[in-house]
Amino acid sequence: MEVTSSPDQFKQAMDGARARGELVGLVPTMGDLHEGHALLIRSARDACGFVAVSIFVNPLQFGSRADLDAYPRRLDMDRAMASALGADVLFAPGEAEMYPDGGPQVTVDPGPLGGRLEGASRPSHFRGVLTVVAKLFALAGPCRAYFGEKDAQQLALVRRMVHDLNIPVRVVACPTVRAADGLAVSSRNARLSSRERAAACVLFDSLSTAAALVRRGERRSDLLRAEMARRIGAEPLARLDYVAVVDEERWEEPSVIESPSRALVAARFGETRLIDNLLLPWPGEGSMQNSDVSSRSGR
Ligand code: AMP
Repeated sequence: MEVTSSPDQFKQAMDGARARGELVGLVPTMGDLHEGHALLIRSARDACGFVAVSIFVNPLQFGSRADLDAYPRRLDMDRAMASALGADVLFAPGEAEMYPDGGPQVTVDPGPLGGRLEGASRPSHFRGVLTVVAKLFALAGPCRAYFGEKDAQQLALVRRMVHDLNIPVRVVACPTVRAADGLAVSSRNARLSSRERAAACVLFDSLSTAAALVRRGERRSDLLRAEMARRIGAEPLARLDYVAVVDEERWEEPSVIESPSRALVAARFGETRLIDNLLLPWPGEGSMQNSDVSSRSGR
């Protein structure tokens, strides 16, 4: 596996693979790789002849320098994991390589969805995400890019950007990898105390409750939201940020769900803010089961 911090070398590696006729896959990450990232890399490996993993802790998408500085950086372990999973190139630039002028003057406006839900809690977060993803796409060139449903709003916005700006990238969504008790695997989980870790499974419980209600025929969003909020409210260590039900297509919040929809939650456990979401069952949609997968490590 080639490892580079140089945008030019990364671009050359991608261009070279395409010139050899390979289908190119890109897995953008912020490192501290876990089973969720591994699923993305395996999916890329299964479909593409050449797989790139990028690791960049993007300052533009963090609310504070303290949060950015606290983000785990484990390049040696990440390199070993990416290589073991069969990645061909690991692109791990530093801030100076990605933002040589100290930060871009031109950024990507995420539009109305960028200011709602996660965007309401984290102003400028999605502008930062889309700006760095646009840069990665520009360097990578035409490719398949793998994103997790774990960050469903991010995934929706990346799809929107690719569509609205005619970017020649095919976005591929991968299901959320979960620990045995349902908690979505995340780099942030390591920050939880053991009591908070136990409490955090209330997020998936609340989403599962909403799914069970929909399966029984409930369609009223306020009732679904109230039940999710009640569940989370009953957990003393959880501080609810938001619960929402959005339709998959437009990310609007209808009062009665009339098409495939997704339930979303965000809550704090101590200092750690966690998000999760679940596609709600919908008649005629396959087995009506969610496609989330279980992690082997449970990390
Ligand atoms: P991050 O390193 O947190 O920026 O995440 C990089 C990519 O991995 C994003 O597309 C995430 O949605 C995805 N990801 C993170 N956690 C999970 C998970 N538990 N299951 C599947 N994908 C995930």
